[in-house]
Amino acid sequence: VIGFDFEYYKPGSIEEAVRTFAHLDAEGRNPFYYGGGTEIITMARMNNVVPGAVIDLKGIPECRALGHGDGRLIIGAGATLAEIHESGLFPLLGRAGGRVADHSVQVKVTLGGNLAGTIVYREASLPLLVADCEAVVAGAGGLRVVPFQDVFGGRLNLPRGDFLVQVNIARESTCLPGFHAKKTRLEKIGYPVLAAVMVRDRQGRYRAAFSGLCSSPFRSVELEAALNDARLEPIRRIDLAIASLPAPVLDDTEASAGYRLFVLRNTLEEALDALGGVA
Ligand SMILES: Cc1cc2nc3c(=O)[nH]c(=O)nc-3n(C[C@H](O)[C@H](O)[C@H](O)COP(=O)(O)OP(=O)(O)OC[C@H]3O[C@@H](n4cnc5c(N)ncnc54)[C@H](O)[C@@H]3O)c2cc1C
Repeated sequence: VIGFDFEYYKPGSIEEAVRTFAHLDAEGRNPFYYGGGTEIITMARMNNVVPGAVIDLKGIPECRALGHGDGRLIIGAGATLAEIHESGLFPLLGRAGGRVADHSVQVKVTLGGNLAGTIVYREASLPLLVADCEAVVAGAGGLRVVPFQDVFGGRLNLPRGDFLVQVNIARESTCLPGFHAKKTRLEKIGYPVLAAVMVRDRQGRYRAAFSGLCSSPFRSVELEAALNDARLEPIRRIDLAIASLPAPVLDDTEASAGYRLFVLRNTLEEALDALGGVA
């Protein structure tokens, strides 16, 4: 039960959504953009968030896009993880989203909600971080297109009142040889001890992104330089990659830091094997 009343808006255009947010915000109504609602509803039940109004983005056609245009794959922020998976358009993203909670949750959780939510794992970000990906963001100044990594530093980070409309990905990035693994503590469904995505780009270089390892998902230049260091044997590359982690390793009830590092080492070995060893 949610112990307070709030208003529900479902705008049919980007402009209307931005205007509605600005209007409600100016009135002090604490509006929230609303994707699948899974997190907003859970947190509202516990009074961890108290929105005066929610603005459902799923009535906006651009937010529901899922298809190709101008040589790029366009995915609306309101597309659900299940829709993305079932479309088969970006297999690696389908696989990453297909391991978030269970299917009954995946049919509700949206790409935008996964990237912007407070649950730290944001696993759908991993394939986007290793792709040539842009974010389309709406705000008071209109629409802007920026590199995905400019708005995602472990979490979607937008000025108040802005929202993610879409991501678009170079088509060739969606069909690179790819590896995905999610390791959990016990059951198949659960938060990641480690989720990893690795691809090999057209130049044969590895790109890798991780969730569950540090406090938020990341891709690291130093770690990739280690994985791509042609002077080193695979095992040494992995040692160096592990030594180059950009932040402390999580140590919590899911797993100790030591265990996460053990899982990381095995997963990197698996990934290099799966993608054809070292160049
Ligand atoms: C049972 C369960 C298990 C989960 N397990 C995992 C897991 O293992 N791994 C994992 O990565 N995640 C996990 N999650 C988190 C999940 O993937 C989503 O992050 C989350 O629940 C929110 O998605 P939603 O679309 O329902 O967003 P909502 O609840 O609608 O919104 C969440 C937040 O995102 C903001 N938001 C939504 N869309 C946009 C947008 N387009 N632009 C800007 N801001 C936006 C909202 O304002 C709100 O602050 C789990 C969630 C549940 C409920």
